[in-house]
Amino acid sequence: MVRALLRAPLRFRRITVPTAPVLSRRYSSDPVDQAVNTPSTTNQEYPAQFTSNDFVPEKKAEIKGISFGQETLTLETNGRPCELSFIRLRDGCKCPLCVDVHSKQRKFRFSDIPLDIKANSFQWDGKSLALTWNKDVPGFKASHVTRYDAKELHYAFDRGYKDSVGLERHRTGWNKDSMKSLQHWISYEDYMHDNDKFAIAMRFLATLGLVFVKGIPDSREMVEKIATRMGPVRDSFYGRTWDVRTVPQARNVAYTNQFLGFHMDLMYMNDPPGFQLLHCLRNSCDGGESLFADTFRIAAVMKTNNRHYFDILANTSLTYEYQHKDNSYQNTWPVFEARPTTNPLNTVTHVNYSPPFQGFRQPEPGAKLSIPREQEELAALSHFARLLESEQNIFELKLQPGECVIFENRRVVHARRQFNTTSGERWLAGAYVDEDAVLSRFQVLKESNPVSWDKLTLGLLRLLPAKKLQTF
Ligand SMILES: [Zn+2]
Repeated sequence: MVRALLRAPLRFRRITVPTAPVLSRRYSSDPVDQAVNTPSTTNQEYPAQFTSNDFVPEKKAEIKGISFGQETLTLETNGRPCELSFIRLRDGCKCPLCVDVHSKQRKFRFSDIPLDIKANSFQWDGKSLALTWNKDVPGFKASHVTRYDAKELHYAFDRGYKDSVGLERHRTGWNKDSMKSLQHWISYEDYMHDNDKFAIAMRFLATLGLVFVKGIPDSREMVEKIATRMGPVRDSFYGRTWDVRTVPQARNVAYTNQFLGFHMDLMYMNDPPGFQLLHCLRNSCDGGESLFADTFRIAAVMKTNNRHYFDILANTSLTYEYQHKDNSYQNTWPVFEARPTTNPLNTVTHVNYSPPFQGFRQPEPGAKLSIPREQEELAALSHFARLLESEQNIFELKLQPGECVIFENRRVVHARRQFNTTSGERWLAGAYVDEDAVLSRFQVLKESNPVSWDKLTLGLLRLLPAKKLQTF
């Protein structure tokens, strides 16, 4: 039925979506316990989704020893050995002679390193490595010592080391049912003033791509305040913040009261915003519910169940445009941006999908026209859209005044049901924060609130429904 609504966008319908389960909220007063308790309540809540088999065992990478060669040093680990060149080890030196203590800027250039640099000596005590150099960068004395602690060396061989913060961090894929349980709400007070609770909310955002703030004062200024806690707001021709209200003769489909299908924002820009906020100020009309779906999970499902289509979408670029009198933007993106990782929920780092803003696909220079290939691209994209729009994958709620949704723009697609302005008012204030800024916030929170940040690892974050994707 939801699909029928999605396909018949122009007719206003009274919403008859199953309301109780979807719209019931979990205002969690203790999010940590909620997360930690997830496994024990799992069977009851979504039996087909998670079992204990889905726990990803904590993989503790360790350095077992270090051996020394002519031009390289090898880290013996409990996994594959990792070989590092002396050039690279010299290049990474962060001693006070090499990196200014205050500005953290480097005081030598990579290009200053002699081609035949060698380590003179090394010491490894299981925790830290010290190297001295033979033929060091000109100007450095024999007393120059380069040190690495085990943590720094981990980055060299353990991709998972930054699993909870970077672009390739662990994600927990969700659909309608699992998001009903996993949704995380934080009060405005806690979000703004409680560092631990803010860190937990950001961890949910990092993992699920979607988090909610409630109890926000009724003020147009709030969305900027909430955004700025994550990072500097992203300015655009819409303004530092913007309003979603019904405007006569709207130039953007978001400003009308029609149904607005699943999309991502600003895909026509060169650096689409990583995160979006929508603060609800008024929502008293019929309709206007917000819909969300997890494209990363759909991509993972496709990779498992229909690898051919997944590969096609990783190699299909679509063009997005915004062309008006005063602003003209255009960009082309692959539907799935993929990296060669092993985590099934990290198969993509971005999804790019925004049908309302699609423009003319210009042929690649030199590319040969192939109708069968275009038909395959179309079929793969239709398959993707069908999965996204299938009722079981859509998390729907009607934002109430004082609530704000924060979501990852290039993971979580959003849509809005048609609404009837004769029956009331609808007003959301929006803002964007760049991905870089939010990833930086994640990293800083992980460092400064390790307990809050990592506590979730005990529960939610190790529940990767990879094995159950087939049942989807
Ligand atoms: Zn140094």
